[in-house]
Amino acid sequence: MQMTAAGKQMLLQAGAELGLDLRPYLPQFALFFELLTTVNQNLNLTAIRDEEGIIYKHFADSLSCLRYAGFASGLSVIDVGTGAGFPGLPLAIVRSDIQFDLLDATKKKIEFVAKVAQTLALVNTQALWGRSEELGRQVVKRETYGAALTRAVASLATAAELTLPLVQVGGFVLVQKGAEVARELAEGQGAIRKLGGVLEQVLHLKLPGTGDTRHLIILRKVEPTPPQYPRKPGVPAKNPLS
Ligand code: SAM
Repeated sequence: MQMTAAGKQMLLQAGAELGLDLRPYLPQFALFFELLTTVNQNLNLTAIRDEEGIIYKHFADSLSCLRYAGFASGLSVIDVGTGAGFPGLPLAIVRSDIQFDLLDATKKKIEFVAKVAQTLALVNTQALWGRSEELGRQVVKRETYGAALTRAVASLATAAELTLPLVQVGGFVLVQKGAEVARELAEGQGAIRKLGGVLEQVLHLKLPGTGDTRHLIILRKVEPTPPQYPRKPGVPAKNPLS
């Protein structure tokens, strides 16, 4: 399916609401849209299939991460559990000055992400197939990223264990969450501290187009993560730190 003229306008308007001029990137978003809707017919990459949903809930929601001011030029970022490329791919389109590693445990999803990156000539991305619990224990990856992002992967406590070990001391983790965050924030405090992080801030925003409430939870890595973390694959989700 091709993005319609109305869809392109919707995307430009959503970008404007986020303070972004998306006109230079419209051809890449249109191509990404076409690949996603075509491949999704057979592969079931995402449950969001309609044009409006993809534009607001995938593209604009991903780009809303840039409301956080910490995305400095030259940053090295990992998107943990990127799925079909969210939030990493839309961010890589508009921020060619930042390197994005896009990690997912599901092979068909990461193959799709690699295909999009290649078709859109996104030289600032690398698609990685694997689990963050394993990557976080690899010497070449552990505590090497300036930032980690994650959306719709896990509770805050689990997300902290999947991301903080990968981030350098001084770097940040951005966890995208929907409307309800108070309980997760309370339950996640112990895990964040054990992993060498602190809760730095929570940004509240409205998703362009839909007006839905969103939260960007920002964790700062202040100390090295103790060597026992992350635990074995699956354990952070089954038995979250408290
Ligand atoms: N972030 C995408 C989004 O918001 O559309 C995908 C969300 S999807 C619900 C969760 C994804 O996280 C799945 O593709 C799954 O394979 C991946 N995932 C879950 N745990 C993971 C882990 N420990 N390491 C890497 N990927 C993981």
